[in-house]
Amino acid sequence: MRVPECAEVFDIFSKDKKFKQMKQFQTKYIGEYDVVIAGGGVSGSHAAIAAGRQGAKVLLIEQFGFLGGSLTAMGVGPMMSFHNRAGKQLVFGSPNEMVNRLIQKGASPGHILDGTGYCSTVTPFDAEMLKIVLEDMILEAGVDILYHTRLIDISKKGKNINSVFIHNRGGIQEVKAKFFIDASGDSELVKLAGVPFSVGRSEDGKSQPLTMNVKIGNVNSRVLREYMAKNWDQFDDKIRNDDKEKVLNRTARISLWGFYDLWEKAKAKGEVTVPRDNVLFFETNTEGEFIFNTSRILGMDPTNPFDLSKAETMGRKQCLEIYQFLKKYAPGFENSTIVSTAPHIGIRESRHPFASYVLSSEDLVTERKFDHPIAVGGYPIDIHSPDGQTTESVHLRAEGLYYIPVESLLVNEIDNLILAGRAIGADHHASAAIRVTPIAMAIGQGAGTLAGLAVSNNTLPMKVEYAKLAIQLKENGVYLGE
Ligand SMILES: Cc1cc2nc3c(=O)[nH]c(=O)nc-3n(C[C@H](O)[C@H](O)[C@H](O)COP(=O)(O)OP(=O)(O)OC[C@H]3O[C@@H](n4cnc5c(N)ncnc54)[C@H](O)[C@@H]3O)c2cc1C
Repeated sequence: MRVPECAEVFDIFSKDKKFKQMKQFQTKYIGEYDVVIAGGGVSGSHAAIAAGRQGAKVLLIEQFGFLGGSLTAMGVGPMMSFHNRAGKQLVFGSPNEMVNRLIQKGASPGHILDGTGYCSTVTPFDAEMLKIVLEDMILEAGVDILYHTRLIDISKKGKNINSVFIHNRGGIQEVKAKFFIDASGDSELVKLAGVPFSVGRSEDGKSQPLTMNVKIGNVNSRVLREYMAKNWDQFDDKIRNDDKEKVLNRTARISLWGFYDLWEKAKAKGEVTVPRDNVLFFETNTEGEFIFNTSRILGMDPTNPFDLSKAETMGRKQCLEIYQFLKKYAPGFENSTIVSTAPHIGIRESRHPFASYVLSSEDLVTERKFDHPIAVGGYPIDIHSPDGQTTESVHLRAEGLYYIPVESLLVNEIDNLILAGRAIGADHHASAAIRVTPIAMAIGQGAGTLAGLAVSNNTLPMKVEYAKLAIQLKENGVYLGE
C-alpha cells in the first residue's frame, strides 16, 4: 500500500467533512468590542491606530508576541516605497508618522534614494525598534492587544459576523464585535466567513514564490561599495544605468541586486541551488547589516501547512548556501555573521478575496480614477516568477499613481467585514503592486478609519458617507491623489 505524502494527508483532511465534527471544545466568552482586527502586521496595526484614535473600542489579535507582521516576522525590509518613481510622496498619514518616530529614535535614516533605481526611495529601519514604535502608537490609541492568539473560527448571523473564536494560553475564547477587519495577510477571516476567494494567479493557481529572508551582519560596507564601483556590470543593469555610480554615492544605505558572474560560478559548481538569477540585498538601518531577499521556494501552496513547513526548512537551507556563497566570494563579507533567518517563511501572495471590487493590473497602469479612493500607491507590479528564476516588473509612468477604491476593502457576502493590507480585492497582478508595506499601511489606515466612522455613525461600513470618510482621512494626513 502506498503511504500518502504529508500534503496529501492535509488535502484529505481538509476535504473530509467527518473530521470537522469530531470534538466539541469548551469556549469562554471574554467580551465585546466595537472592532476586532485579525492580524497585527503593518496593515492591522495602522487599522488599529486609526480606529482607536477615533474612539472605537478595539481589540487587535496577533499570533506572534510582537507587531509588524512581514517586517518583523518575515525579516522583510526596507519599506518600499512611500513615493512614486518621480519622487513625489504618496503615502503620508500614520505610516509616515511611524517613520518619523523611527527617525527620532535613530532607528531609520528616513526615505532615502533607492540604489537600484527600481523605485525612487526606500525606507530602511530597525526591526526591533519598529516593534516598539508600533506598540507605542497602538497603546496610545487605547487599543487592547492579544498576543500569542490565533483566530480559529467565527460565528455568523445572516450577513454579519457575530463573534470570532480565538485560541491562546487561556484556551478557546469567544469575542463579539460590531465590525471585524481581516488584516491577516492570508484572508483568514474571509475564508472562515465563507467569502469566495482564489489563490495565486488565475490560470493555474500558482502563487509567487516563498522566500526565507536572512539578515547578515558585520559586513564591511566600504569594501563592498569599492567592489561595486569597480564592477558595475555585475549589478543591476536595467534601470538608471546612466549614473549608477552617482546614485550609489548619494545613498546612505545600499540596496541592489547582482553578483551575476560570481553567483553563476557558484551555481555551476553546485555550491548554490537557489532558483534565482541574482542576489537581491538591502542594507538595514544598521550600517553593515544586510537583508538578503534571495532564497526562492517554488511550487508550494502558501495555504497548505505541510507545504509551509517544508518551505521553512528548504528556505533556511538556501539561506545557509547564500551566506556561504557571500563569505567565500563577495568582497566585504569575509567576517560577516548570520544575524537571523526570519521567524516565518515570507509569503508574498496567497488568497485573493472576491471583494465588491477586484483591482486589476489595467486599473493600476491606466491610473483608473475611482469615485471612492481610500489610498493611493505608486509601486510597480513586481512579480517574482511562480515558475522560475526571473522577476518581472511593470512600471507606471514616472509621475504615475494608482487609486485603491473603498469597494476593494468590502465584500458582498458579509456586511460587517473590512479587508486590509495585501489581501484586499486585487488579482495576482494588482496585488503584486499594492502588497508592499507603505501601501499596505495606507490601506490599513483607510480600513481602520472606515471602521471608526461606522462605529461613531452607528452604520455599516458600506453605508458610511464617502464625503465623511475622505474628510476624516485628509484630516489625518492621508493623500488621496487629487
Ligand atoms: C519575501 C518578501 C519580501 C518582501 N519585500 C518587500 C520589500 O522589500 N518592501 C516592502 O515594502 N514590502 C515587501 N514585501 C511585502 C510586504 O512585506 C507584505 O506584503 C506586507 O507586509 C503585508 O502586510 P499585511 O499587514 O497585509 O500582512 P502581514 O505583514 O503578513 O501581517 C499579517 C499578520 O497577521 C498575523 N496572522 C495571520 N494569521 C493569523 C491568525 N489566524 N490569527 C492571528 N494572527 C494572524 C500574522 O502573524 C501577521 O502578523 C515582501 C514580502 C515578502 C514575503
